[in-house]
Amino acid sequence: MTTKKVNRYYCDHCKKGGCNSGHMHQHEGICFFNPTRGCPVFDAQTTDVAANVKRLETMTPEELLKKIMCPACVCAAVAVANKGADSDEFISFDYKAALAAWNARQTEEFQAACENYCP
Ligand SMILES: [Zn+2]
Ligand SMILES: [Zn+2]
Repeated sequence: MTTKKVNRYYCDHCKKGGCNSGHMHQHEGICFFNPTRGCPVFDAQTTDVAANVKRLETMTPEELLKKIMCPACVCAAVAVANKGADSDEFISFDYKAALAAWNARQTEEFQAACENYCP
């Protein structure tokens, strides 16, 4: 019998794990819980997630979407705002509808990121 050791790689921000370091590295870059995450929708290297989370204190996700025009960044802000919040404080955001409206700019990475982290 042989045993085989495999490395597993874990995201520093959300604890998602995977066996492929390249994929996990890519995921970390756009992970919703990475405070300076890049945005695949706008090809941005970094975004300021905290600034958008702060905006959600006075805006609905729909208003934020109108302002920053990026469903992925709104999703990230909502996911961060909801993390650890009581269920009655949960912000709901229909990212699928937002994404549909964004169809032309839709990317695989964004879909994958959203499916994993959107509440
Ligand atoms: Zn992650
Ligand atoms: Zn974005």
